[in-house]
Amino acid sequence: MEYSHRYSAYPTQQVAVQLERHIDIHRQAYNHTRYEYGNVDADNVGSAYKHHDRLTDWKDEHPVFAELHSKALQRTVTRFYQNLTNLSRQKQNGRKVGQLKWKSPREFQSMTYSQSGFELKNTSGRRATLWLSKIGDIEIRYHRPIPDEANIKEVTVKKETTGDWSVSFSLETDDTNLPEKPEVDSLDASNSVGIDLGIQDYIHTSDGTIVEWLDLDDEYERLRREQRNLSRKEHDSANYEKQRKEVAQIKRHIQRKVLDYQQKITTWLVTEYDAVFVEDLNVAGMLQGSGNARNKQDAAWRQFIELLEYKADLYGCHVEQVEARGTTKECAACGVETEKPIWVREHACPSCGFEAGRDANAAMNVLQRGFSELGLEWPESTPVETALPTDTDDIHEVSAKRVIETGSLGA
Ligand SMILES: [Zn+2]
Repeated sequence: MEYSHRYSAYPTQQVAVQLERHIDIHRQAYNHTRYEYGNVDADNVGSAYKHHDRLTDWKDEHPVFAELHSKALQRTVTRFYQNLTNLSRQKQNGRKVGQLKWKSPREFQSMTYSQSGFELKNTSGRRATLWLSKIGDIEIRYHRPIPDEANIKEVTVKKETTGDWSVSFSLETDDTNLPEKPEVDSLDASNSVGIDLGIQDYIHTSDGTIVEWLDLDDEYERLRREQRNLSRKEHDSANYEKQRKEVAQIKRHIQRKVLDYQQKITTWLVTEYDAVFVEDLNVAGMLQGSGNARNKQDAAWRQFIELLEYKADLYGCHVEQVEARGTTKECAACGVETEKPIWVREHACPSCGFEAGRDANAAMNVLQRGFSELGLEWPESTPVETALPTDTDDIHEVSAKRVIETGSLGA
């Protein structure tokens, strides 16, 4: 299994200068690869593997390339060919695409060490050290450990639009080291959960846990204010640049806060349950409304589901996406569909009389669909009416503050 961990990095002034210089040489190497790909009639262009053989000549002709770690230089050549592959894939999918462009400094802000030339050190505390060959030591904020069994394949150092630095480790875990998932036959209504992704609440589980939305009002207010300030600055002036960084910083802060929130909720879910079922977003008409805000929230939910799926393997939990269509309309007890406008918060079935909260009913449908997805019958011994907490006493509301501070949704 492959995944990545990202950390904030704090190079010294001196090291930062080195990093910037290296990244710029990598940029030139990228552009040079592009040039040769289009203009050099040679046996060793056309694939990353072949193009790597050019690098000895490069270093003779342009000594500046010899300053770079050789594996990292190869990686940049590979990066060009990866972009090329992505481009042709998009073309195959009918997208109108142009040629790969020459990269300006602003468009090229990272470099990747692959296989060798790096070492992660001093990992016992909150701060760790990343050593890069030809660069030196860089301090990172080691807020979550890299698991012992993970193998670090690559390290990417990036200068963010905010001017801050980050490093991202590509990790690979041998699948044999991963915990086994529980037997499918052992799943039942008590160890499995369906989740309704929120409109009213952030999530609503089929066993009655409600997690509230993260309050980002202050952050968004600040973002709007700083964006207004930015629009008043003269384009490309020093003040504009400073303000642009300010805006990027707030956006980053919001993203991090959301990610942290999702990390905590997803970790709790996969450790608490043997199976977690969630709606498939690709077909869901999730939020009412349209445009940018909706796309942003859909992207955030996709991130949530990706986290869930990756942790499913890491912690040994079943995570399945189920058909989302009609989860709200359908009665969890009898299956009859009734129209339910967004403002109707209660489910009251005209056919069988079953009553539940709108989102609780939807979460229960997600759970049942998850069971059938795994080829399981819904246990007859567990009528929906009893499995689903409908009494307000059984509903367990969790504040965002609690999630942030304890990382737990439990009672
Ligand atoms: Zn019904």
